[in-house]
Amino acid sequence: MNSPSFPPSRVGEPMTTTVRVPERRILADDSQYVSPDSLQAIAETDVTADPRKLPDLSHDEILRYSRHLLLPDVGVEGQRKLKAARVLLIGAGGLGSPLALYLAAAGVGNIGIVDFDVVDVTNLQRQVLHGTSDVGRSKIESARKRLTDVNPFVLLTTYEEALTSANAMKILQGYDLVVDGTDNFPTRYLVNDACVLLGIPNVYGSIYRFEGQASVFATKDGPCYRCLYPEPPPPGLVPSCAEGGVLGVLPGLVGTIQATEAIKLILGIGESLSGRLLLIDALGANFRTVMVRKDPACPACGTRKITQLIDYEQFCGSPHVGGDPKVSLNVPEITPTDAAARLAKDEIDIVDVREPHELAIAKYPKVIAVPLGQLADRIAELPRDRDLVLACRSGVRSAKAVQQLQAAGFTRVWNLAGGIHRWIEEVDPSQPKY
Ligand SMILES: [Zn+2]
Repeated sequence: MNSPSFPPSRVGEPMTTTVRVPERRILADDSQYVSPDSLQAIAETDVTADPRKLPDLSHDEILRYSRHLLLPDVGVEGQRKLKAARVLLIGAGGLGSPLALYLAAAGVGNIGIVDFDVVDVTNLQRQVLHGTSDVGRSKIESARKRLTDVNPFVLLTTYEEALTSANAMKILQGYDLVVDGTDNFPTRYLVNDACVLLGIPNVYGSIYRFEGQASVFATKDGPCYRCLYPEPPPPGLVPSCAEGGVLGVLPGLVGTIQATEAIKLILGIGESLSGRLLLIDALGANFRTVMVRKDPACPACGTRKITQLIDYEQFCGSPHVGGDPKVSLNVPEITPTDAAARLAKDEIDIVDVREPHELAIAKYPKVIAVPLGQLADRIAELPRDRDLVLACRSGVRSAKAVQQLQAAGFTRVWNLAGGIHRWIEEVDPSQPKY
């Protein structure tokens, strides 16, 4: 009797997925792909080039990393490379959580973390680095506490500040590898450009609802993020996790792949994702890679037109990122208290632009319900002779709706400040926040 073959012999044609990626830089399926030789060079830079310069392992470390040392491709020398490595994590959130935990556990000796956020209870559904007792604490402080427990042999350097054009070069300098766990476009382009300018490989990951992407950018001969996405999407087109939601396990999947890529690069083993984009479709249980070619016209890594960091908020057309959206979107506002008083006198109509499934969680009384995505098509349903108050969850989508109605000639439109969150605080505490 034949022994069972693995993988199974009856494998069909590759399935296609519905992940949205720009076609411009994506070539055919990469089944014939050969990783560039240059990747090998990454593991041979600086201290890792000369084994004599690698730090020794203590007896405690040898015991701790036993399962690595048993792997012929890692061994004592590989573990010493990990100990010597300097890896900077941008963000200690969804992607940063598995990244920090696994890189620390694996014995990456020097880990830097940049984050300026505070742990919020809505983070805990996916940001497994932080716990319930950390809510209200800074993510950096929470990460330091947890990672020190995971592996006290790791040297942590923390940067409790936003990464900006002003500080990025200074912070990134001296690291062997940057792992990007950011959740917004301005920071992603900033990290890319800084990595290209400094010649530091950038392990990229991003998540959106049930889909994820991962790659390795800015290696010596590989493409960069701008080769794949020369322009950011128009502001507001891609909702953030806070607006669009995300499956809690997804950053775990993508972040763990980024951690795997980082460790492979440090060890100089396997085939890196440089030159390839991994597309993950969690719902369809599909993983596939497509080739990404280096663009000779890329202003970052091709023509090298970009010689210093720029204003990325402006480049991405999103001046409100990280700030107070209601201020910079600059639309007329009304507080929930005032809106409730005027609603009681039938002086206004509330237009709820949230998605239908959100209405089941918490409600405004008496609304005209039109999800933001349908507003343009259903604009005729809205009365022009009434005062309209646009409302959503936190006040961001409704501010965009106000702008959309103003552009369509509506003059009597206001944004409900703070959305249903503030409505619950000021008017109806009986309902849950989400
Ligand atoms: Zn490029």
